[in-house]
Amino acid sequence: MATPIGHALAGAIVYAGFRRAGWKTPSMIAAIVAANLPDIDFFPGLFVHALRKYHHGVTHSIGAVVVGAVLLAAVWMLARRLRLRRLELPFLKRGDTRPASTTTGIGFLRLTLFFGACILSHVLIDYITVDRGGLIGIPLLWPFGKAFYIAVYPIFGDVWRAPLFSKKVIIHNLCNVIVEVIAFVPILVLLLYFRRRKEEKKR
Ligand SMILES: [Zn+2]
Repeated sequence: MATPIGHALAGAIVYAGFRRAGWKTPSMIAAIVAANLPDIDFFPGLFVHALRKYHHGVTHSIGAVVVGAVLLAAVWMLARRLRLRRLELPFLKRGDTRPASTTTGIGFLRLTLFFGACILSHVLIDYITVDRGGLIGIPLLWPFGKAFYIAVYPIFGDVWRAPLFSKKVIIHNLCNVIVEVIAFVPILVLLLYFRRRKEEKKR
């Protein structure tokens, strides 16, 4: 797996791609959380004292992209209907006075695409990341196939955990973060720059 920072940057890129005007913190945080969500498969391993035992399972697949996107979109829409106003969506403009019945369908589809892109970014990044433990690769095509896939020439380094605070582990993980920052930050900055220019032209 890549580091959570790399996945978070990918989530921010998806958010920047979807947003229409102005940063809205809750939906940016949602994008970052969604982009890290497939790694929840670490948690079952905590109960058997083998963190990687279930890691790189079906949460890293196109099936999870679809199911996760629909579930997250449904939760978000529900929160919106419960009038949690601060959870404004990046693509539903502030002050939209149309009745909920006319915006819900469009909003749900866009939300599903938004969360789907976040989760897909995680799956694709892990596909091109070095993997040395547990289940090697990811079940990319699940439920249509159970085979595990990993790129022939991975780009990103895997996260080392033990011994946790050893110099070797810290330097290795820090190098991974630097590579991820070099790979993603320029894309994020360029995307924000061009979107801002487009928004300014519209004014
Ligand atoms: Zn992962």
